[in-house]
Amino acid sequence: MSPLSRIAHCGALLNFRADPGAHDEPSAYEYWEQGVLLVTDGCVEAFGPAAELLPAITGPVSVIDHGAGLIVPGFIDTHIHYPQTDIIGAGGRNLLDWLERYAFPAEQSFVDAGHARQVAEFFLDELLRNGTTSAQVLGTVHRASAEAFFQAAAARGVRMIAGKTLMDRNCPADLCDNAADAEHDLRALIDSWHGRGRLHYAITPSFAPTSTAAQLSSAGRLAREYPDVFIHSHLAENRDEVSWVHELFPDCSGYLDVYDRFGLLRERATYAHCIYLDDQERRRLAASGAGAAFAPSSNLYLGSGLFDIAASDAAGMRFALATDVGGGSSFSMLRTMAEAHKVAQLLGQRLPPLRAFYLATLAGARMLGLDDRIGRFAAGSEADFIVLDPHATALLERRMAQTHTLAERLLLWMILGDDRAIAATYILGQAA
Ligand SMILES: [Zn+2]
Repeated sequence: MSPLSRIAHCGALLNFRADPGAHDEPSAYEYWEQGVLLVTDGCVEAFGPAAELLPAITGPVSVIDHGAGLIVPGFIDTHIHYPQTDIIGAGGRNLLDWLERYAFPAEQSFVDAGHARQVAEFFLDELLRNGTTSAQVLGTVHRASAEAFFQAAAARGVRMIAGKTLMDRNCPADLCDNAADAEHDLRALIDSWHGRGRLHYAITPSFAPTSTAAQLSSAGRLAREYPDVFIHSHLAENRDEVSWVHELFPDCSGYLDVYDRFGLLRERATYAHCIYLDDQERRRLAASGAGAAFAPSSNLYLGSGLFDIAASDAAGMRFALATDVGGGSSFSMLRTMAEAHKVAQLLGQRLPPLRAFYLATLAGARMLGLDDRIGRFAAGSEADFIVLDPHATALLERRMAQTHTLAERLLLWMILGDDRAIAATYILGQAA
C-alpha cells in the first residue's frame, strides 16, 4: 500500500459557500490572507486560517508554500467545444455565417479518430494551463469524437462532462446522423463512459435547428431513461437563429418551448447563451431546474448580444460562466470574467469581482449538481484547485502592490490576468 499523501498548501485562500450576489454578501465566502488547504490522498481534509490550522495538524504532513499566491477551487467552464480549438479567431460575421464557414468544416475532420485524439489532448492541456479543472464539453457528431475526448480526459483524471452532438438536418451531409443511429451510439457511449471514474455523459443536441422532431424525441426519451445523464445544448443566442427556430417549429410557442416539448428541460440540463428569452421563458427555465451558460466572450466576438444578469436573477435562473471556445476567443476564465464584467457594464448592471469568481467556480458546480465534489472546498471534496499569481506580469505586480482589498485584487486578476496568472493547477491534489 502506498503511504498516505498529505500536503498542507499555504497561501491566501478564497472559498465560496453561496452566491455573494451584487453586494459581496459576507456569509457567502471565506477568505484568509494566510490560509491553509490540507489535502489528503486527493481530497480536502481541512482548510482555514494558517495560524489556527497549521499547529493543529498532527501526523506526517508535507508543506508547500505558495507565498502570495491565492488558492481557489479550479475553474469550471460550463460550455465549450473541443473540436473548435482550431478555429478560435477565425473570422465570421455572425453565428450562422460562422457556423457554415468555420465550425462545420473544422468539425468534418473529426471523422478521423487520430485527429480527434490529438485535438482532445491539446485542448485538455490548454484547459489545465488556464486553471480550468472541469468543463462541459461538446464533441462533434462523430461517436469517435466523444470516445477520443473521454480517453484523453480519463488519462488526466479530470472531472469532465462530454457528449457527441446530435445533428440530422440543416448541416453538411457528412455531419448528419439520424435519430436511430444516434440513439444507438448514445446508449453505447453512456454505458461505456457515464460514471466511469470522473466522467459524465451529456445528451447533446447541437441546437434545435439541426435536429428533426424525431431526433429531439429520441433525445428526450433517453433523458428520461437516464435521469442522471446531463443535457447540453444552445438556446436563444442570436436573433436570426431565434427566427429560424420559429419557422422550423411552428407548433411551438418559442425556442425554449421546443426543448420543453421534447422533454429536454430538467435538472442537469444546460443551455448556452439564453440571451433572447422573455421573462416568462426565464422563469420557466428556472422552474425546470435547468441552467444557462453565460458565454460573454463568444457573445461579443460573434456580436450575438448581451446576457441579462439582472433579468436572469429576477427570474431565479441558475447560470454560470463559460468560454464557448471557439465562438469564444479565449480558454481563460479570467479573460471570460473580464468580458462578463463588460457585458454587465453595457447593460448598466454590475458584476462585482467576487461574484465573477463565484460564477467561474461554485456556480458551475451547483448548476451541474456536482457541488458536493467540486467547485468549493469542503471536508471530503475533491482537491481540484489552482493558485493565482499576483506577480504574473510586471503590470499586474505593480497594480497589485497598490491594492487594499480582496475585491480590488480579484478585479485586477480578472482585468489583467490570463493563463500567465495561473501559477499552478492541481487535479485531485496532484500538480497538473
Ligand atoms: Zn457553443
